[in-house]
Amino acid sequence: MIIVMKQGTTEEQVREIAALVEKLGFTPHLSRGEVRTIIGVVGAKDKSTAQQMFASMETVESVIPILKPFKLASTEMHREPTVVDVDGEKIGGGKISIIAGPCSVESEEQILRIARGIKECGGRLLRGGAYKPRTSPYAFQGLEEEGLRFLRQAKDETGLKIVTEIVAIGDTDLLAEYADMIQIGARNCQNYALIKAVGQTKKPVLLKRGMATTVKEFLQAAEYILSEGNPNVVLCERGIRTFEDSTRNTLDLNAVALMKRWTHLPVLVDPSHGTGVRELVIPMSRASIAAGADGLLVEVHDRPEEAFSDGPQSLKLHNFAECIREVAKIAAVMGRSM
Ligand code: PEP
Ligand code: MN
Repeated sequence: MIIVMKQGTTEEQVREIAALVEKLGFTPHLSRGEVRTIIGVVGAKDKSTAQQMFASMETVESVIPILKPFKLASTEMHREPTVVDVDGEKIGGGKISIIAGPCSVESEEQILRIARGIKECGGRLLRGGAYKPRTSPYAFQGLEEEGLRFLRQAKDETGLKIVTEIVAIGDTDLLAEYADMIQIGARNCQNYALIKAVGQTKKPVLLKRGMATTVKEFLQAAEYILSEGNPNVVLCERGIRTFEDSTRNTLDLNAVALMKRWTHLPVLVDPSHGTGVRELVIPMSRASIAAGADGLLVEVHDRPEEAFSDGPQSLKLHNFAECIREVAKIAAVMGRSM
């Protein structure tokens, strides 16, 4: 439930109510708007008695139950769009963000070449996998810590912010040291132990939707991270499994429009995994922004024919430049800035 405080309540009065929430065995989450402060009350216990009690308090304007299974992620709790700060790069809140890079970090030269190319195109966020969750145990699994060091070098040289994937709880501290934003891949979207561990770091998190995860399940996965005290969550639609086999996945743009209504968290789209086909990435990038997405995650490789993973869906650098130009046109129509 949400406790809406009366206009003009003091910090002290808000603290008093929050302390009472805690005393009753719930967790308070404060949200200070321009006019009013609201306190989200979350916890597994029955809230009916507490609800009546808070409703009768002098400093409380009203008490509203949150009906959605995801509480902190919901627009009921937090009306203003959340803006996530990735080492100075803001994601969400009217701006279109583009995260780009190769599926895997393959070598020092490869990631530096691609980082320079992305920077030249105007990119600001570089993504590359150092730990890869591959379907086959015989496929390239990533350069691991060495890959993280190459990403750090790319950041030092270009200033691009680093996004990279975590696959094991034991790597959390290491990833938090190297990454500006930690990606949770589709295969780990509902790996609750892992997402809780990342929630405890307070690092920005890029949470990708699982390939068979419903929107409600996806938002509850985000809720795990928020409820650990990490508010910096960015969601990413990356296509779901359907009967359609002409494309790698089916990009679910319904989910994008729906999530923009249901949650205040920024929503990105990954048209690379969503389609699996290079030629479809730009059209679906345009469609994603038109559907209301806050940005894109796209795979970019300067030599996709040599890529260790996901070459066929990777944009070449000149395609990436075109993608940015095309997206800028749609962004302008949507009243968003780049
Ligand atoms: C990736 O981002 O390269 C990746 C493995 O994607 P997903 O987790 O969406 O399959
Ligand atoms: Mn990939």
